Amino acid sequence: MPSNVAEPYRIKMVEPLVMHTRDERQQAIEKAGHNTFLLKSKMCYIDLLTDSGTSAMSDRQWSAMMVGDEAYAGAVSFDRLEAAVQNSYGLPFVVPTHQGRGAEHLISLILIRPGMHVPGNMYFTTTRAHQELAGGTFHDVIIDEAHDPSAQHPFKGNVDIDEFTALIDEVGAENIAYINVALTVNLAGGQPVSMANIEAVRRVCDEHHIIMWSDATRLAENAWFIQQREDGYRDTSCADIVREMLSHFDGLTMSGKKDCLVNIGGFLAMRDESIFTKARELVVLYEGMPTYGGLAGRDLEAMAVGLVEATDDAYLTHRIGQVTYLGERLQEAGVPVVQPIGGHAVFLDALRFLPHLSQDDLPAQSLAAELFVASGVRSMERGIVSAGRDAEGNNRHPKLELVRLTIPRRVYTDRHMDVVADAVIDLHRNAERIRGLEFVYEPPTLRFFSSRFQPKA
Ligand SMILES: *Cc1c(COP(=O)(O)O)cnc(C)c1O
Repeated sequence: MPSNVAEPYRIKMVEPLVMHTRDERQQAIEKAGHNTFLLKSKMCYIDLLTDSGTSAMSDRQWSAMMVGDEAYAGAVSFDRLEAAVQNSYGLPFVVPTHQGRGAEHLISLILIRPGMHVPGNMYFTTTRAHQELAGGTFHDVIIDEAHDPSAQHPFKGNVDIDEFTALIDEVGAENIAYINVALTVNLAGGQPVSMANIEAVRRVCDEHHIIMWSDATRLAENAWFIQQREDGYRDTSCADIVREMLSHFDGLTMSGKKDCLVNIGGFLAMRDESIFTKARELVVLYEGMPTYGGLAGRDLEAMAVGLVEATDDAYLTHRIGQVTYLGERLQEAGVPVVQPIGGHAVFLDALRFLPHLSQDDLPAQSLAAELFVASGVRSMERGIVSAGRDAEGNNRHPKLELVRLTIPRRVYTDRHMDVVADAVIDLHRNAERIRGLEFVYEPPTLRFFSSRFQPKA
């Protein structure tokens, strides 16, 4: 697999970075309650908090923004987005939303009635929150390997077909709102789903008349893994693989902030006209008119160009090659990371990184804070804090306790990846000094965004 191929672009505009002192960073993390979400971005030398909305746009995207049609209704910018989605994704109906969760909100309201069940290949924070708000119950039907950070599987994001059919037997197909298949699976470590698995899910859905939806947020990255790993796809372009994957789905929610290479935006796309009609009714209430969905015309233009650029083979080879390069440098130095390395991020296995801490010491939260203080690299927790509490109010204990080093698209160079690798390797050598954390403030929902912590005594 190609690792560390040179960037297939040159840099036309730069944003200076400042390296602060360790003392300044120590003060900053204390002020932020040891939560990297609460840090000022200017304190971060390399910001790997997220790949969401942090992409660098191309010259073509910036020039498309200049011709954005800002009319309240009937804007031509919507027509261009619709045409791009129809051409690249093969789905006829498009409803823009301000970002992915806007689309999740609408589809949850449309398809879920209280008491219904929603299987999916691992949860995602905002997705599950919207399913639950609509009265649904999420069921994780991802294959077991996904929960084991060292299990080797080329498609660790796959749906476990037996678990899916067992759920259908248990609750009845009529009580399943839809199955939500994420391409790739963020919380499993950016792991892909194979074409064969997508086809198998489709067969079950056809047999039981279940709607097959996709969280298509990182579908281009998923396509690249199919091209590299699945028999018969070596000579197929990622753009064609994207269309083939989506040919099996009834519709999708998209966070444009990832694989549409924009800083803001999202949409719903679908085949069924009655779902489309309901989405158009609801979008007016929650987002904006169906031709802008809470976005400016220029945002629709940037998304229309970006969703095509994101499926380019050379772009994807460098993109995932850069992530792989960082992961391999860490692996070679003995740092425990989730394997295989996923599409958008390298995930540190905090339980093995900090074996002297238990999960209730919030080891991933603590490791993210320490990495920032040591190096100015900002990462985020994906473990017990992100998993939140269950309906009874008890802490969920997810099997994965991870720190996510998420690589923005087209933003950092491979040299920056070396800086990150050196910092993590150094921290790993001195890991026994890292203490656990405890909550001092915890909000009722999506607690990872705003909780505050202090070091455990
Ligand atoms: C980011 C993300 C979302 C939500 O999208 P937003 O644009 O942040 O609202 C949904 N699903 C997955 C897998 C994501 O990574």
